[in-house]
Amino acid sequence: MNHHSLSDFRVEHQAALDESFAQVLAVLRGEGMITLERMMQDGTKVKAAASPASFHREGTLRQHLEEARERVRQMGDPQQDQAEQSARQRKAQERAAQEKLQRLEQSLEELQKVRAEAEATDPAKRRASETEPEARKMKQPGEGGFAPSYNVQLMTDAAQDIIVGVQLVQAHNDQGQLEAGVEDVQRQTGVVPPQAVVDEGYVSRATVLEMDKRGVDLMGGGSLEESKYAARSQQNWQKRGVSAEFYPPQFVYDAARDLYVCPVGQELPHGSVKEDRAGVRRHRYQAAPSPCRACPHQAQCCPVKPGQRVKGRMIVRTENVPVVAAYVEKMKTPEAQTIYRERKRVAEFPNLCLKEKFGLRRFRVRGLVKATCEALWACLTYNIQQWVRLRWRPNLAAAMAT
Ligand code: SF4
Repeated sequence: MNHHSLSDFRVEHQAALDESFAQVLAVLRGEGMITLERMMQDGTKVKAAASPASFHREGTLRQHLEEARERVRQMGDPQQDQAEQSARQRKAQERAAQEKLQRLEQSLEELQKVRAEAEATDPAKRRASETEPEARKMKQPGEGGFAPSYNVQLMTDAAQDIIVGVQLVQAHNDQGQLEAGVEDVQRQTGVVPPQAVVDEGYVSRATVLEMDKRGVDLMGGGSLEESKYAARSQQNWQKRGVSAEFYPPQFVYDAARDLYVCPVGQELPHGSVKEDRAGVRRHRYQAAPSPCRACPHQAQCCPVKPGQRVKGRMIVRTENVPVVAAYVEKMKTPEAQTIYRERKRVAEFPNLCLKEKFGLRRFRVRGLVKATCEALWACLTYNIQQWVRLRWRPNLAAAMAT
């Protein structure tokens, strides 16, 4: 048994490994250790098999690619053959050069994806790793700094802390990962978990809507309370030259008649409504132009540029759609808060165990698929240990039997 045999075994039987994972879950379910009534999901960053120095910009990657191609060309030239080299040595060198060439080509492909993922920042400054192209530079919580990593998502059944799903993703944060987590649990167990508990990093209005569509009762952190008068909107009014006495909070909302009343008593009736971002409705209320044109406060309340006509003051009211509003109210209840507080103990325990007990702080293999296999091995081991621990602890076994 050498390093290569072990590494190859780890990653060459993904389908069988996946099947073993599912079979162990089926056994645990049969023994009542998994109920799938409440699933908790959490992500942890695990370093990839690459150093931070392996990240380069496009120019350097292309230069290294040319050098690797030249190296491969030279190897194919019999003149360059070293007589004293054994055929085995030569074959190993050729394989290493080919692998390096493939990795560099993949790095350039991944760089395009990295650029698309980070449109907000300067795409020209984006880098990809030349030794582990699919890894992403991620912040290491607790350690400080950034390192090439994968984001390991673990889905845990709350009954006995058994891992019921594992996924590796390239995302820097957990936003939008719950949907994939629920699908993975369904793939592994055939069951859509009726309840999912996650921290605030997962929760957005889009996630709330999606979970509602799938019939999953979401329990999450953070606030989706719609702020009527956000600081940013006040800045907008300031930029437009509106005086503070005529900012939106100075307009009184009459819910019974669904209209606003301005500081001098003018009514702003409801105009239109649209959903311009997931889960939020924008209602527009606008005063008639003529009273505003005649108003002595027009210049402070609805100023216009020279040559423009006064259209009448407008106010926007935003509100969560009913599904999101119901979720916000639900998360205020003590019952929901009790379930949410359980999340930390259940969801973070397997992450900690994988890192502290099994030493899964850095992957030993390269590539998303192979690293997923390594993570799956660790999760399978964790589940079997949990099974042994639960099954052969007499008091717990007796409690489960009753
Ligand atoms: S400009 Fe129009 S909305 Fe503003 S205070 Fe005067 S009447 Fe009211």
